[in-house]
Amino acid sequence: MSSVRESLVVMKFGGTSVEDATAMNRTAAIVGSRRTKGLEAIVVVSAMAKVTDQLLAAAAAAGRGDKPGALAISSRLRHRHIDTSAELVTKDRFLGLEQAIQLEFDALDDLLRGISAVGELTPRTSDLVVSFGERLSSRMVAAAFDERGLEGAHVDARNCIITDSNYGKAAPQEAAIEAKLAEIVLPLVIAGKTPVMGGFIGSNAAGITTTLGRGGSDYTAALVGGGLHAGAIEIWTDVNGIMTTDPRIVPDALRVKSISFEEAAELAYFGAKVLHPATILPAVQKSIPVWVLNSRNAENEGTKITAVAPKCKSPFKCIAAKKKLTIIDIVASRMLMSHGYLKSVFDVLDKHRCVVDMVSTSEVSISLTVDSNERLPEVVEDLSKIADVKMEGNKALICMVGEDIRGHNGIAGQVFSAVSHVNVRMISQGASEINMSFMIDEEDVEEAVSSLHKYFFANPDEAIFDVAARVPVESKG
Ligand code: ADP
Ligand code: ASP
Ligand code: MG
Repeated sequence: MSSVRESLVVMKFGGTSVEDATAMNRTAAIVGSRRTKGLEAIVVVSAMAKVTDQLLAAAAAAGRGDKPGALAISSRLRHRHIDTSAELVTKDRFLGLEQAIQLEFDALDDLLRGISAVGELTPRTSDLVVSFGERLSSRMVAAAFDERGLEGAHVDARNCIITDSNYGKAAPQEAAIEAKLAEIVLPLVIAGKTPVMGGFIGSNAAGITTTLGRGGSDYTAALVGGGLHAGAIEIWTDVNGIMTTDPRIVPDALRVKSISFEEAAELAYFGAKVLHPATILPAVQKSIPVWVLNSRNAENEGTKITAVAPKCKSPFKCIAAKKKLTIIDIVASRMLMSHGYLKSVFDVLDKHRCVVDMVSTSEVSISLTVDSNERLPEVVEDLSKIADVKMEGNKALICMVGEDIRGHNGIAGQVFSAVSHVNVRMISQGASEINMSFMIDEEDVEEAVSSLHKYFFANPDEAIFDVAARVPVESKG
């Protein structure tokens, strides 16, 4: 397939957009409105809100050998899914749906018992446990659509989203996915149905369940949109779009009306949870516009992500914060800059699959920032063989994103005067020249982001930012 299917829209609904029967009904109404306009929809859903975390907790309990603890979590989830289903569809349809849900939970309980007996949780088994969330929510939403005349057709995403075997963060195999989508999903669309599939989950070539990493349902939507050359991808969430910063930190953050792929990718990579960092790529490759929209306020225009963003008078579009980082300082008075030394440092990081966010070097030292994780002591041990190493945790990266940074002189001075009361550790301006980042202590994030927001978004460009609506955000609890 090569040409764009303009009438096809891939709609992804996050956890809060399917958190209960009311939310699922809102989702059905939104999809219905697209179909009424003559559009074809493929729907990708997350697990119901908080279910992924609870499944991970059940898996962890089982891994510790705590069988009663694991089964208690599963039992609560079983009731939540069945109660929601009873509210969602009428009696006849409920009977079939309930039976399917009971069977899924019986299988989950068997699995949790097995893990408890062995007392060990592998990444592969963890992916299988966590996959139940999207398997269940997609079934329920498909039934709800069917009941409301939207011709819902449940598709097991694992039959389409083919990945490698890197459990927990599997890499999709795009050619295989495209072929499966054309074989399984496209015929349903052509037959006038609304395919509904779970995001986040996939399977490897041997059919073993995998996941794309936390927040991965956005990625699924982009893979489906890219694979079928959709006319648009819509990411439906619980805020009005991409905002100038996380509205949980700054309640009067502004909606950004339009942002470029490059800016959105930078923002997502540097911690803005609103979009999974990998989402952008399949869409960019096929030039498919992506919208971020609010399922609780469907009338709002949301944010459009496009190849080229219109010029903006404000230097920055957004401020992101990424927490749970560690700085590693490497001091090697001997020959830091000698040939091959940096390579030996990066070889160690590579061996431990350590992702580096920021690097700064001086004559005798290198500072790196990496995600905090349990493997860091081993990394430090290996690095200590070639240098003196110090590690400092509880750090955060503040990232200011905007394509127009380069056009503004003295911008760094303004940024640092806005946070002059905060201790800044490392500074970098990305090679792409669309971000300016610096490290601070995790405890200073709220203060720094609020100060920067006040400084840079007091009088923003009204063509780009929705100044009219400073929407207070409900807490998700
Ligand atoms: P979903 O379950 O729909 O995928 P997420 O919780 O993953 O939703 O992402 C939406 C949340 O992202 C918002 O509730 C908001 O708190 C957070 N967020 C962080 N940064 C931003 C930003 N710049 N713009 C909008 N939302 C943001
Ligand atoms: N349910 C998964 C998660 O919570 C994937 C997603 O919602 O995007 O990470
Ligand atoms: Mg998300």
